[in-house]
Amino acid sequence: MARDYYGILGLDKDATDNEIKKAYRKLARKYHPDVNDTEEAAEMFREISIAQEVLTDPQKRRIVDMGGDPMEQGGGMPGGAGGFGGGFGDIFDAFFGGGGSRGPRSRVQPGSDALLRTSITLEEAYRGAQHTVTVDTAVLCDTCQGSGSETGAKPVTCGTCNGMGEIQEVQRSFLGNVMTTRACHQCQGTGEIITDPCTTCHGDGRKKARRDLTVNIPAGIDTGMRIRMAGQGEVGPGGGPAGDLYVEVTVTGHHIFTRDHDDLHVTVRVPMVEAALGSSIDITGLDEKTHTVTIPAGAQPGGTAHLEAAGMPRLRREGHGDMIVHFQVDVPTELDGQSRKLLEKVRHHRGDQASVETHDEEHRGFFGRFKNRKRR
Ligand SMILES: [Zn+2]
Ligand SMILES: [Zn+2]
Repeated sequence: MARDYYGILGLDKDATDNEIKKAYRKLARKYHPDVNDTEEAAEMFREISIAQEVLTDPQKRRIVDMGGDPMEQGGGMPGGAGGFGGGFGDIFDAFFGGGGSRGPRSRVQPGSDALLRTSITLEEAYRGAQHTVTVDTAVLCDTCQGSGSETGAKPVTCGTCNGMGEIQEVQRSFLGNVMTTRACHQCQGTGEIITDPCTTCHGDGRKKARRDLTVNIPAGIDTGMRIRMAGQGEVGPGGGPAGDLYVEVTVTGHHIFTRDHDDLHVTVRVPMVEAALGSSIDITGLDEKTHTVTIPAGAQPGGTAHLEAAGMPRLRREGHGDMIVHFQVDVPTELDGQSRKLLEKVRHHRGDQASVETHDEEHRGFFGRFKNRKRR
């Protein structure tokens, strides 16, 4: 919302420059921190100082008189939408999609955020890692320190739009004469002209640069997660505050482990006889420790063993996920003579025979019950 700058100084809208300065001086004597050191006084002093600055600047005062707030637009609040002036301009914009009757936009704009991608191994995701990424970005022009001016001269008011950043035109339409506004092409809507553009950046206040940045990748990070590096994005037009850099991480596949959130899954191939007799196997985890996994006698295909806390570290939290060991029981496809003889002996001894599985009453399910009813 536009602030009532006149009201802050106790003035009418037709106050002269002299009256503005007088009103400011009178209030400043009352609220200056040297005179009054309360918090409220400090706040009031800030308010009257801003009001004085705005109303004694013809360009800013015009924006105020049109119902806008030059401090909202020129302030370059990072990520903030430019303040709407209110009043007729917005209504015209809504109808005609105009560039906006909002006074000049600030020449200095916050920089854009940037996104980079980097791949890490599962081991790195386990331990955490530091990666160097190379980023093509815009940095502050060191010739002009972002001012855009070769000599450091202040920008002058654009003569084409008189500093409004936009040009108003009356157009005839079926509604009658309609006022339209468009951005001033001379100053790109900023209301300012740099008279001696910096030869390095041509007045943009920034230049292209390639930088190497070190990214700290926290332990437990997963694919698709982004690390935010505040202020490492592009410097904005006119040397505006830099955006943020986001580094999106992809964790590459592992030759043993499959990750599911914080759990690690691993499959062990258990020969049929080992499954029957029971066994054990050593697995080296990502913690580089040896985990002995017991394969119980009679382990079934698809059976699992859970190793608690042998999985991935939880991101920015205490603890680890689990390691889940899946048993894949391997049946030999070829048997040498001796093995065949031994297995035939086992079969004979056990009297093993294939049989059709029968469902007990409880597990017959809907279809079974349906058939039974029909039969009655
Ligand atoms: Zn420059
Ligand atoms: Zn202009």
